[in-house]
Amino acid sequence: MKVAKFGGSSVANATQIKKVANIIKSDPSRKVIVVSAPGKRFSDDVKMTDLLIDLCYAKQNNQDYQLHLQKIMDRFEEIINDLELGNDILEDIQQTIEKYLQFDTSPLGQLDALKSIGEDSSAKIVSAYLQRLGLNASYVNPKEAGIFVSNEPGQAQLLPESFSIIYQLRERDGVSVVPGFFGYSKENDLVTFSRGGSDITGAILAAGTKASLYENFTDVDSVFAVNPNFVENPKDITVLTYKEMRELSYAGFSVFHDEALIPAFKEQIPVCIKNTNNPDAPGTMIVSERDATDQCVVGIASDVGFCSLYVSKFLMNREVGFGRKLLNIFEDEGISFEHAPSGIDDMSVIFRDHRFTPDKEQVVIDRIRNELHVDTVSIHRDLAVIMVVGEGLVNTVGVAAKATASFAKAGINIDMINQGSSEVSMMFGVHAVDLERAIQSLYKEFFTADESNLEFPSISAKGH
Ligand code: ASP
Repeated sequence: MKVAKFGGSSVANATQIKKVANIIKSDPSRKVIVVSAPGKRFSDDVKMTDLLIDLCYAKQNNQDYQLHLQKIMDRFEEIINDLELGNDILEDIQQTIEKYLQFDTSPLGQLDALKSIGEDSSAKIVSAYLQRLGLNASYVNPKEAGIFVSNEPGQAQLLPESFSIIYQLRERDGVSVVPGFFGYSKENDLVTFSRGGSDITGAILAAGTKASLYENFTDVDSVFAVNPNFVENPKDITVLTYKEMRELSYAGFSVFHDEALIPAFKEQIPVCIKNTNNPDAPGTMIVSERDATDQCVVGIASDVGFCSLYVSKFLMNREVGFGRKLLNIFEDEGISFEHAPSGIDDMSVIFRDHRFTPDKEQVVIDRIRNELHVDTVSIHRDLAVIMVVGEGLVNTVGVAAKATASFAKAGINIDMINQGSSEVSMMFGVHAVDLERAIQSLYKEFFTADESNLEFPSISAKGH
């Protein structure tokens, strides 16, 4: 039995929903279907979830919210009419919105309830349409499906006792259509996962039902080895491991929610990323193990918006507790860090820019100077992080050499290298302005068969 999740672009309008229905019909093992809220129909369209958020803020700020409500209802009405479904679904959606608008709960609780309307309505629409086509399909509310979560609005975490209830979904007749993105707390409050969280619902249901496959339908044929904004027609990834996907999605591969990997990984459910617009394409498989002999680097990810704090102190390596004291300062100030490469007399700590705000900067610098008596402390902003990702990378001779040679060829200064802490990635920090050239050069080095590849042949060091 398979769990199939369809993202926002797959349910953005009636044409897309018809494709979804064909995909479901074509394989009777697709028994549990998870749907997102209607997404963008064109590049500057607005996602349904964002329309719902705007509606909620207008209401909470005592503004006139009729226009927001109208936009939402118009979109649902168009989908429902184009699918030739009855008016009762539209009335049901309208009533649910009105009920949540009058909700007497915390502002965050109301926001979560309104945010859930997108997914909830999609599930009602898709199941009604499947029924119209003669399929035995039903809408299953997340509570009925057994998705019980912590009461953290916008950040729900699944409660482990949910799994045994979810397993019973296997017993249901026909196709169960479940809205993604939210669950219920023990106190019966509706709580959403983080943004993009329908992937999480899909993974939870795949793990809970012990599905043979979790299919994640999006609008791309497969995951690319590198961001296509930097490299034209990059190679596809046909198979990668959970760990590789985690590292890639950390640094900008947004095709699959990183939190969704956890339930799939724990139950070892293979994930297949597929395209609703081209369902015959094989897609990208995410599995627990792959043979890395031919392709030790699977992808190159990158992200901007980092900054680094550099400290140096002579004989730092002999000072017991230096690292702890330094990191303690960040803990005290409520700043979480991303990486912390170190040398004998130096240590850098890398942050996401938005977490290390300029007002925190002065406090932290003063504390480091006064409490740790360092020789130097400095901050570098506009940093980009590049991750070269692949299983077996640390056991393969020449990968770091190839990577650094490609930076040298492009004339790019590497601000930082972090290799060895992760089994499957090497991290480089460069100035954000150099990012595009750095990626292009790395891609050439690792993914194209030109002469430069021959300079540092990748020989597996395993067994040496
Ligand atoms: N609709 C939600 C969002 O836009 C969740 C999802 O699409 O997965 O974040």
